[in-house]
Amino acid sequence: MSKFVIFSVIFFVFILTTGSLAFFFSMRQIIRHNKGIELSQMLEIERVKLETSVNNEVVIALKMADSPLLRQYFSNPSDLDIARMAVEEIFSYQQAFASNIIFWINDIDKLFFYNDFEPYLMDPDNPDNYWYNMTLFETEVYNFNINYNPDLNVTNLWINAPVFDALGNAIGMVGTGIDITTYLELVNQNLADRASIYLFNSAGEITGARDAALVKDKVNIEEEINIEGEGIIALTRRLVPYQTQILDTPFGRIALGTVPLLEWNSVAVMPDSVDDYNTAMTALFIVVLMVIVIIFIIFNFFISGLLKPLRKSMIEAEEANRAKTSFLANMSHEMRTPMNVVVGFTSLLLEGEDPDLDVKDILKKMSTAGNTLLGLINDVLDISKIEAGKLELMPVKYEVPSLLNDIITLNMIRIEEKPITFILDINQDLPYSLYGDDLRVKQIINNILSNAFKYTQQGTVTLGMHCQIDGPDVILSIYVKDTGIGIREDDLKKIFTDYSQVDTRTNRSIEGTGLGLSITKRLTEIMGGEINAESTYGEGSIFRVQIRQGYIDDIQIGEKVAESLRKFLHAEEKQNVVKKLVRSDLSFARVLVVDDMQTNLDVASGLLLRYKMQVDCVLSGAEAIERMSTGDPQYDLIFMDHMMPGMDGIETADAIRALATEYAQKVPIVALTANAIQGMEDLFYAHGFQGFLPKPIDTMHLDSILNKWIKKPGS
Ligand code: ADP
Repeated sequence: MSKFVIFSVIFFVFILTTGSLAFFFSMRQIIRHNKGIELSQMLEIERVKLETSVNNEVVIALKMADSPLLRQYFSNPSDLDIARMAVEEIFSYQQAFASNIIFWINDIDKLFFYNDFEPYLMDPDNPDNYWYNMTLFETEVYNFNINYNPDLNVTNLWINAPVFDALGNAIGMVGTGIDITTYLELVNQNLADRASIYLFNSAGEITGARDAALVKDKVNIEEEINIEGEGIIALTRRLVPYQTQILDTPFGRIALGTVPLLEWNSVAVMPDSVDDYNTAMTALFIVVLMVIVIIFIIFNFFISGLLKPLRKSMIEAEEANRAKTSFLANMSHEMRTPMNVVVGFTSLLLEGEDPDLDVKDILKKMSTAGNTLLGLINDVLDISKIEAGKLELMPVKYEVPSLLNDIITLNMIRIEEKPITFILDINQDLPYSLYGDDLRVKQIINNILSNAFKYTQQGTVTLGMHCQIDGPDVILSIYVKDTGIGIREDDLKKIFTDYSQVDTRTNRSIEGTGLGLSITKRLTEIMGGEINAESTYGEGSIFRVQIRQGYIDDIQIGEKVAESLRKFLHAEEKQNVVKKLVRSDLSFARVLVVDDMQTNLDVASGLLLRYKMQVDCVLSGAEAIERMSTGDPQYDLIFMDHMMPGMDGIETADAIRALATEYAQKVPIVALTANAIQGMEDLFYAHGFQGFLPKPIDTMHLDSILNKWIKKPGS
């Protein structure tokens, strides 16, 4: 799980980083491209604006320079009438200039007039006034010069237009000034802080910038904007008029342009900034990113939710597999031990005549071993039936006292020599009869009771049973309490799972396969009930079972029966019955036993011989048919094994019934089979069998069959 989360987080961070980088770089490209276009458009617009406004002023200045009245005035400045009229005209021109700035000077008195200020005398030989001689004697139409006014902290672009007399001699000049500082301030204000525009002349001197000091100090543009390589001045020199060029520089994107009218160049700088990314695209990207993050988190939660049960079942499967492996090993041990007893003692007996051999004791041990094996086989059959979903209950009406009696009888043996007191906690109000599968109920109780005896060395084992009517059913509550070794808290969860044995170190010497409790649990569930256990390690355990049984009537067992059960009287009585089994003398009778295994034939004939009758044994169906077809000797009863190689018991019975003689058609046939599967009985009856005797043979059952089918001739 954690591996998956780490992997998906790394994967996600990788996608996020590459996605963000891809976004960042493509955005940068787009932004730079757009910036370049924006900058060159900016320069073009500002150039057009500047040139247009300069052109307007030039046109007015030229018109003024061409005025005949002004010419007259400049030719004869001492004529006061003309001077007054000319000045009036000059002031009307002043209104036409956008800056309302006007100046004039004639070459006779050299008095410089600036708006309506007092004139002052101009000294053309002063180098600061270089523009005077330049305009008058070197300029044909007009020229520009730029100067900085420290009083006003403005830079003015001056338009100077010479005035010529009729002979074409320069007699003075007129002009106006354009406040370029304010103009550029306005331009830069529009750009806010995103970009700055600089103007500079062909020598590289800054002629216009937001910072007026740059113009005042005639700072070189390359000092202000130092790009690597050729330099701005060289690059702009190569531009043809009106051309713009976009460059990538450490300052960000810059655009170079021209102002042909003024023979200047321009540069616009737009530095890189995080604000460049403040776009709808970025917002969209962040939204998409957040959606991906949310999807990622949901996806992770979803997947881990999916994986959790998968992982749990994987762990469970692993555990089950481990349990199964150890079960097989354990099973092999559990089976070999009794088999060893049987095989060992059998060969000992076969060997011969050792007079010291206690044959009875050996047979007892062999019988115990056989029963242990039988129990094991039954458990394995049960669990496989349960696993295959084939376990069906066979409900019958049964008597509760006899059920308890059987359980007690069986478990009395288990106390062995241990100092254990067995207590039965029941009341007289237990119902006498119930409807249910009594064999399975016995199995449930026997399993937990036998565990209690197995895992208790001394103290008490209590079996309690109580009943409560619940609609058409009764709820049978059973508990088994012991003062045994107890179960650890962690192990309590495991004991009901298939093949699990816990605390194997402590219990090494105790027999068991770990199947008992899981069978018990499944059986209780099939009966609509449940089982649970509580335990204190080292002190003892209590197992509680609740199952549903059918209600018969309200007859109760009563105090007497309850009391006798408590005292295990029933148990003793039953033992006496077994002991007291009085076998009839059936020496007049003759029976045939059909089984493909000699040992089975030996067991059956051994039991039958006690009735003093004649017993014939055959090893196959074919031999049986042969005997029956002769009609001599005639048998009173046939015991027929089911599973035999060649012809099985059912086929043999069919063949016998098909024989022509009435005797063959009527002779009672009893199935003798270890295949004690539910429903098998009906199959036998359908094929002309009269009885059914499961292997291993129960002496009481055999006795009842013999009494039923073998009748004294004539009776
Ligand atoms: P087993 O055939 O090994 O007894 P069970 O399924 O009957 O198998 O029991 C599973 C395990 O539960 C046993 O191996 C034992 O460790 C533990 N256990 C069952 N009943 C008791 C009990 N009354 N006291 C202590 N431990 C018990």
